Amino acid sequence: MRILVIEDETPLAEQIAERLRGEGYVVDLAQDGPTGLHLAQDYPVDLGIVDLGLPGLSGLELIRRLRADGNRLPILVLTARHQWQDRVEGLEAGADDYLTKPFRMEELLARMNALLRRAAGFAHPVLTAGPLALDTRAKRVTVDGAPVSLTAYEYRLLEYLMHRPGEAVSKTELTEHLYPDEADRDSNVIEVFVRRLRQKLDPDGRLQPIETQRGLGYALRAGLDEGPP
Ligand code: CA
Repeated sequence: MRILVIEDETPLAEQIAERLRGEGYVVDLAQDGPTGLHLAQDYPVDLGIVDLGLPGLSGLELIRRLRADGNRLPILVLTARHQWQDRVEGLEAGADDYLTKPFRMEELLARMNALLRRAAGFAHPVLTAGPLALDTRAKRVTVDGAPVSLTAYEYRLLEYLMHRPGEAVSKTELTEHLYPDEADRDSNVIEVFVRRLRQKLDPDGRLQPIETQRGLGYALRAGLDEGPP
């Protein structure tokens, strides 16, 4: 998942970015409104964390412009303490949730998780597809209740697909959302991760959870709830 952090307080921005990267997110940073707006409009981001007091263009105005463009990026707003008007205005402008400074990183992560799930249409922190379950809080995966040990990259890849069940996701999209550096982006690497994921999730080939859709990419099989293909 790719997160855009728009925050002009450098120490806080760096602290958030460091923690999110440690959690396996790809992070883009913007320290003023116009840069943030540009990144939100033109980059493949999955969630925005937006401070309201920003130079160049306020967070509120940035959110209003995005929503006016029809951009539905999930947005978590950061507000100063005691400024309840900010929260109300932020939500009215189209933000999805808010967090009051100072906050604990665990709280930020929990809110982000909830927004990402909600955007994907899941109400519960455990995403399921047939026998497959992915716990977004514990970052654990099970098949028929049995734990499956995945590397961080394998987990992220599966998490991304499980947020879009039945939807074909191209290798380009996967590399953009899963890799921080363009230099590391090689679609052959995605093929290797998909192959390993399939082996780990479905060693006997009974389930076939990840489909290859020719020319389109990979998809979590839509009929997974109905059983083997
Ligand atoms: Ca600020």
